[in-house]
Amino acid sequence: MAAPRHTPITPRDGVSTLVGRWPLLGQRRPLVIYLVGIVALDLVAIVLLAASTPVRWSDVMAFVALMVCGAVCIEATRRLGMPAGVSRDLLSAWWLPVALLLPSLYALLAPIVLQMLLQWRVRATVLHRRVFSSAAIGLAGCAASMAFHRLVPDPAALTRGAIEPIGLAVAAAVVFALLNTALIALAAHMADPEVPWREVLWDKESALLDVVELCLGVSVAISAGLNLGLLILALPPVVLLQRSLLHAQLQAAARTDPKTGLLNAAAWQREADTEIVRARRTGETLALLIVDIDHFKRVNDRHGHLVGDQVLAAVAATLRSQLREYDVVGRFGGEEFVVLLPGADVHEARQVAERLRNRISHMAVAADDAMITVTISVGVAIMTLHGDDLIELLAAADLALYRAKELGRDRICLPVIQPTHLTDTETAAIPVPSPPEGLHPEELHPEELHPPEDLNLEELHLPEELHPPEELHPPEELHPPEELHPEELHPPEDLDPEDLHPPEDLNPEDSPSTLDHSSASDPHPPPDRLSTPNSLMTELSLNDEPELAPSPTPQQLPEHPPQTATAGD
Ligand code: GH3
Ligand code: MG
Ligand code: MG
Repeated sequence: MAAPRHTPITPRDGVSTLVGRWPLLGQRRPLVIYLVGIVALDLVAIVLLAASTPVRWSDVMAFVALMVCGAVCIEATRRLGMPAGVSRDLLSAWWLPVALLLPSLYALLAPIVLQMLLQWRVRATVLHRRVFSSAAIGLAGCAASMAFHRLVPDPAALTRGAIEPIGLAVAAAVVFALLNTALIALAAHMADPEVPWREVLWDKESALLDVVELCLGVSVAISAGLNLGLLILALPPVVLLQRSLLHAQLQAAARTDPKTGLLNAAAWQREADTEIVRARRTGETLALLIVDIDHFKRVNDRHGHLVGDQVLAAVAATLRSQLREYDVVGRFGGEEFVVLLPGADVHEARQVAERLRNRISHMAVAADDAMITVTISVGVAIMTLHGDDLIELLAAADLALYRAKELGRDRICLPVIQPTHLTDTETAAIPVPSPPEGLHPEELHPEELHPPEDLNLEELHLPEELHPPEELHPPEELHPPEELHPEELHPPEDLDPEDLHPPEDLNPEDSPSTLDHSSASDPHPPPDRLSTPNSLMTELSLNDEPELAPSPTPQQLPEHPPQTATAGD
């Protein structure tokens, strides 16, 4: 990611008051120059065209009629409110006919009228944004209008049904949409150079809206060209469309976490519940991950909350970019994220979690004079294996996350199945050593039982783990070795050798505590959270993390030089 030049604003007292009054002055300098330049260009165009455009009564009437329609549209949707940030409307349905039917001067004036109305009646936003929007729409409309009038000198040709002028009107509408998008995208890019061009330029939803606007605009232009009175017929459907569009945007805003753009906790929970019900009905597997940024408080403490927010957004974008379209990812609260992976089994869930961990550890966010890297810990739970509903899965994943934190962070962990869930075979498998990242005993494969030469068995203390009577509490929990069936010791061949040797996974010292949470050797036994899923759920909602061991050692931070991966990377 290109390092964001956070032009730090450290204004003197007088200047800071000025910035408070004129937020434009607090923007990056290139952006300020660009915004002022576009507005100046718009004003110059207005002055030049005003000097050369004769005032005709019929033009003024048509302009007023179209602006009244725009005003009715705004008033009819005003009570719905407007989502924060960039929002879309269908007002092009009115200023496109202005551009096609009237002299180009009116195309510059129309957005000024409607943006003033929006500012006054709907939402008073930062003034420079409104002014810039008016100028960008005005210039795009004016260019489209000039091109159209050059090719079709008499706009009344639109109403005669000939294909050519209508085709040219459509082409002019496309020019209008492209120019407008380009002008806005340039401003968005200058405001935040880290956001990839693809994101500011292309959005499937917004492209669809552009097509709808184009169709509406050209149809309204033909109707208005025939008879201004026909606008009365065009108005109700446009109002209805505008209302449903706003409604959809407001709904989306209510589901979204504004800092990260991911689903918020409530929306995630609803979607996750739906997926779990579906998985239960179809018998598909499903995995749930809880992702927690390690030592995030330090990022805030060292670099401030604003930079902390940038890191949150970058982590969220990396998570999103590494997941499939239908994976459900949300911000659970604070620096915790939740991911639901429909159709994922243990193996796939581990792979995905490992990929997320890896990508995020390679990500770097530029702060004023430093590149910030973070790591994550991930708790993984699998449907049926670790729980049957959302609460149980969250409880299990949270327990696993707790272990991941306890084992040193920057790792993934699966919960160990509680003995009550296990068949005899599974119970017997529990003490078999496994990689510490909570690889479930059921996953153990022959090589794990007979580790290759590069694994120092002494370091793993295999004998003790297999036979420490006080840890295994025989005979209920463990059948003596001679009772072990060969099949249990030689499970299926599909072992991925990486399961044994991911350096970050395999920490021999950690092994014992992963095997049995009730291990007497564990100095920090986790709370009995699985047995109280409801109270755990409350804890999760409140983002009440347990007090954990002190800070990670430096080697937990990536050893590689910070990369410039980004949100969209
Ligand atoms: P651990 O590795 O144990 O998870 O340590 P941690 O520091 O990440 O966890 P802890 O729960 O101690 O602190 C979480 C921090 O996250 C504290 C809080 O200030 C910060 N935080 C929560 N929400 C936000 C947010 O929206 N923006 C920013 N910048 N910080 C946040
Ligand atoms: Mg944390
Ligand atoms: Mg946390």
